[in-house]
Amino acid sequence: MSCLDQTSAQWFVEASHSYVEGHQKCAWCGGVHQVHKLETETATEFSCNRCDFLVRYDHQLDRYVLFSGDPRARNTSPLTMHDLEVNVSAGSEHGTE
Ligand SMILES: [Zn+2]
Repeated sequence: MSCLDQTSAQWFVEASHSYVEGHQKCAWCGGVHQVHKLETETATEFSCNRCDFLVRYDHQLDRYVLFSGDPRARNTSPLTMHDLEVNVSAGSEHGTE
């Protein structure tokens, strides 16, 4: 079971928006200037220094992977998710480590 109410794809979109519009803001904990964007030939990844939140989109596999951040650090007022249109076809993985 997962306590997350958003899919990996939704987290990726939110992380992307937060990064661009929120000065490298973390979608999970809300910390600014905490998120690093990593783009490789096969994937795009956002990771947070502060809460260990990480979300990755694998272009080749068309798959999203989510590593949830510290639950104690989670921002209780996330962006409005209803503005996002995400066609979720990929399964989600919730990393434990
Ligand atoms: Zn964070």
